[in-house]
This record gives sequence, C-alpha cells and structure tokens, in this order.
Amino acid sequence: MAETIETYSDRLMGFTLPGRNARGRVVRLEGVLEQVLSAHDYPPPIMHMLGEALVLGALMGGLLKGEHAQMTMQAQTTGGIVSLLVCDYRAGAVRGYCDFDGERLARLGANPSLAALFGEGYLAITFETEGNQRYQGIVPLEGDSLAEACEVYFSQSEQIPTLIRVASRAGAKGRAAAGLLVQHLPDGEEGRERLHVRMDHPDWEHVAVMAGSISHDELLDAGLSLEAITWRLFHEEDEVRVQTGTDLSRGCRCSAEHYATIIARFPPEEQAAMRNQDGIVVVDCAFCSKLFELAV
Ligand SMILES: [Zn+2]
Repeated sequence: MAETIETYSDRLMGFTLPGRNARGRVVRLEGVLEQVLSAHDYPPPIMHMLGEALVLGALMGGLLKGEHAQMTMQAQTTGGIVSLLVCDYRAGAVRGYCDFDGERLARLGANPSLAALFGEGYLAITFETEGNQRYQGIVPLEGDSLAEACEVYFSQSEQIPTLIRVASRAGAKGRAAAGLLVQHLPDGEEGRERLHVRMDHPDWEHVAVMAGSISHDELLDAGLSLEAITWRLFHEEDEVRVQTGTDLSRGCRCSAEHYATIIARFPPEEQAAMRNQDGIVVVDCAFCSKLFELAV
C-alpha cells in the first residue's frame, strides 16, 4: 500500500466556521474498515452498509468530548432482511456488526435499497457523555440512506440543522468509506433548548450549499488530507478553525469477565445447557468474532 493512504485515512477531524456558527467533522476509513469487516464473512451489500454505518458512527461520535463518551447507533427491524445493525464509537475506536437473513438478501441483487433491507425499521442513536449523561433519539428508517436517517435524528431530536454526506467504494484500490458532517449551532454548542429547528437561516443555507458540493471522489481520495477537503469547501470563509485529528482504530471492549457476568445471570439449568462436553461455555463476540472459552 502507498504511504499516502496510510497518512490520510483512518482519521477523524473536526473543524468550526466561527463566522457561520457552524461546526463539522470529516472522516475517512480504510485499513480500519478492512479490519472490522475481516472479522466477518459478509456479502457486499452488508459490507457496504456497515462501512457507511461506521463512518456515521465516527462522524457523530466525534462530536463528543472525552475518553469515556460513547455514541451507539442501532438499526433494528421487525421482519426486515437486516434484523440488527449496531455500531459504536468511543475515543477513536469504532466497531460494528450486522445480523441479516442471507437467503433473502441473495435474492435482492447487488444494490438493494434501504427500504428493501430494513422494511419497517427504526434507528436509535444514543449519546453517553463523559459526565454519564445519556440521551437517545429514535427515528424511522426512511429515505434513501442511513445518513439521511441520521440527518432526521438531528433535526427532530436535537433541533440542529445537519448535513451528512457518506461515500464508499470497493474495488481494485481496496475498500474505503468516508463522510462529512456539518451542523449549524446559532445558539452555541450548549444551546439544547431550541424549540424549532430553523433550516432557512442564511448562514446555514450557505454552509449547506458549500458542504453539499463535496464529491464522493474527493471524500474517498486517500491522497487528499482531511484538512485539504475542509479547505477546498470553505476557503472563502473569514475563518476556518481546524482541530487536531484523531487516529481511528478498530476497538472492541469484549472480555471474558464481561461474558462470565452475563452468563451468571441465567438460571443454573440454562447455564448447564450452554456448557459443552468439557463443561466449557463457548461465546463469540458479535463485534469482533473473538471466541471466549469460559469455565463458568
Ligand atoms: Zn469483541
């Protein structure tokens, strides 16, 4: 792999446009995406969707401050081909997995729509802040993409005008996914008390047009730094403040202790049924597929 790819991918960067009361995040995943996907044997449409979900997780999780703050995104359906899609973000670490009906998926062809995959589904987005504050919003999985559902989350649950663009590719150059998020915060970062979301503020309209001009190729171009992307979009602004980027990693927090605690909650006869011939309970982590052999 060329060195430029390692330099500019698997990073998340924040920026603000003080003159417009706007902030943004930009992210590109490459090696980390391959790492997450390598733990699973997913067909292309699922890999594509999980890539987008991980990008969204990083974009939204990257809005939080602190080592212990976490963002979890969970898409769930009843009777959909995809029954569950989970990803989370904490301090630069991303992870995710997907449960789906492989046979029904195979009948859909190469590029199934969001509606075909999820049927009647919803998306739950949960933020847990450094100070253990937790807030969650649930939106229906409508529209064309997970990104669109996340935009709806911000406008409905947080009253924050938000534009999100996600791009992904698979091919000779490898798999990559990238995204851009911009938001308008006219009342400041802590202004959570707004009653109505105002999408037609002139500053926001301008920022949304500029941000919306980003192309998929630009987002995915590993030779283009995240700083360069931001500069391309907003160089006409009076001021663009770019934050120090965060290196991203595939992070899983599974542990034998965690699974032992869960198993201990089951009644003794159910625990007995879980044990194999050697008296061991074998559990595999849904996120990273790591196997744990527990003598519980
Ligand atoms: Zn794990």
